[in-house]
Amino acid sequence: MTPVPVSTEHIPERPACLACGELRIAATYAVKEMMFGTREEFPYQECARCGSLQIVDVPNDLARHYPQHYFAFRRRENIVQQFVRRLIDSQRVRHELGSRNLIGGIASMFSKPLEYVSWTQTAGLDTSARVLDVGCGEGKLLKRMRLGGFSDCTGIDPFLADDRQLETGLSLKKCDVRTFAATEPTSFDLIMFHHSLEHLPDPNETMGAAVRLMSPGGTLLVRLPVADCLARRYFDTNWVEWDAPRHLFIPSSTGMELLAKRWGLQTRLSRSVATAGQFTGSELYRRGISGNADRKERQIFSRRELEDYRRWTDDANRQGTGDQREFFFTRETSAAVSKAA
Ligand SMILES: [Zn+2]
Repeated sequence: MTPVPVSTEHIPERPACLACGELRIAATYAVKEMMFGTREEFPYQECARCGSLQIVDVPNDLARHYPQHYFAFRRRENIVQQFVRRLIDSQRVRHELGSRNLIGGIASMFSKPLEYVSWTQTAGLDTSARVLDVGCGEGKLLKRMRLGGFSDCTGIDPFLADDRQLETGLSLKKCDVRTFAATEPTSFDLIMFHHSLEHLPDPNETMGAAVRLMSPGGTLLVRLPVADCLARRYFDTNWVEWDAPRHLFIPSSTGMELLAKRWGLQTRLSRSVATAGQFTGSELYRRGISGNADRKERQIFSRRELEDYRRWTDDANRQGTGDQREFFFTRETSAAVSKAA
């Protein structure tokens, strides 16, 4: 295979790749803000080694691109709904984690899979695991996990109004992961980044902080968009997950693994988990329709087209080319090393 020629003229001015540290750039792109339709352009650079993307300059006024409602918690469950969920979900979680029971079995047959059970299973953990959600927002996922029986849930997010102890076993803290790691004595069995790492200007230092918080044998779960996907190849800068300028860093699959490796992490599992939004959202942007356009203006797809997008998404996920991935990282323990040796 002939290597792609790489321009080196920008080396002195450009920052290194946030994933792998490479200085050479394969290409630059001008990407428009489309979620709120300001259509301002932001330059991004693509790493010549690993293909990761990053914004060239982090805007000084980044907060302007996160309007108040961006963080809003859409719907709160009332006390009765929470009571029912606590009753049924806890049985479901127990059932799906191996303690078979009738209520949990029936509920599992008639409901959508609980994703957090799949993550927990993959990490080889049960409901006693100490769980940390980095960039937890209002803590929606952790509240669901707590109702499902997880006994030790912590969330951190610098955008929270204040610290909150929501109930025994569920607390949210207003801080970023680097500050948290500097003072927190607890280590966690499952640390999760759900679409938060790509919003941070310092993914390398953030990963380092997460590693300091991992328990021996713990798992770091990172879910985020990846640059090496079918939707980006097809839609180029209209790819919906580019999401300029909020996504400051979009690693390639290789880039994410190289970044983890810098902190002594191994990839236990990496899988493609895109939704059909990779096509519908990107097609809307391609046609110049922003994310905040009228619902009517956004309803441009026929049932047939939507079916096609869902089928293509299933195919892409099977082939590993969906636009979102989840990575399960573990730290090689000395026991595992000696076993391997
Ligand atoms: Zn790179």
